[in-house]
Amino acid sequence: MQAICSPALAAARLSACASVANRVSLRSARASHSDIQPLDINVTLGFILAAMNEKLIACFSCGALAPDIEGPSHKYMLSSPGCWALYGEILARDYGEFNYPPVHRLVVDAYAVQHPGKPMRQAIQSVVVHLIGLCLSIEKGMEAKQVTQAIGRATQFSEKFVWLDPPGNMGSITVADAVKTKTLEEYDRLGREWARSVWEAWAVHHAQIRKLSRL
Ligand SMILES: [Zn+2]
Repeated sequence: MQAICSPALAAARLSACASVANRVSLRSARASHSDIQPLDINVTLGFILAAMNEKLIACFSCGALAPDIEGPSHKYMLSSPGCWALYGEILARDYGEFNYPPVHRLVVDAYAVQHPGKPMRQAIQSVVVHLIGLCLSIEKGMEAKQVTQAIGRATQFSEKFVWLDPPGNMGSITVADAVKTKTLEEYDRLGREWARSVWEAWAVHHAQIRKLSRL
């Protein structure tokens, strides 16, 4: 019988998840949200959870307890490989099983600002853009399409964006909680709580982000 819970196999599957996350991220960057189609992928939550039963370590950025594996991570949204793999699993379900639900925008924004990386141009823009997304969604109640349009206008002034020192605490909810949700209803509720928690964690920069949100 195949030992599906072996660390090596789980790590291999997690690496595949990370690859999916890279592809999804690339697609997100290239395509408007309206023309992204569900991905044809073969990753399962079971393998993630199997790996999580092995050894977990806290992601140095968001604090999520994630599998202690070797593997890739994002170029500037820096995280532990295990955390990035969990995010890949989330995105796979988001685009596939959950068919790109309304909470998607909040999940992407929340994960991005929990992984601000280092002060370099792409990271600076990523953090500001995703904080603007959280601001408009949470404080203005904007729908995802409106938020994306507003961000498009704001990025025309990206030379105004500066590095925002990340908070010491990134909030109490992470991708490790999101990956445990079983239904779309649970995922939607968790995603909204996650986004609100992260937005509050960045409270010291709220005034600046509100100002940029009006550009
Ligand atoms: Zn993380």
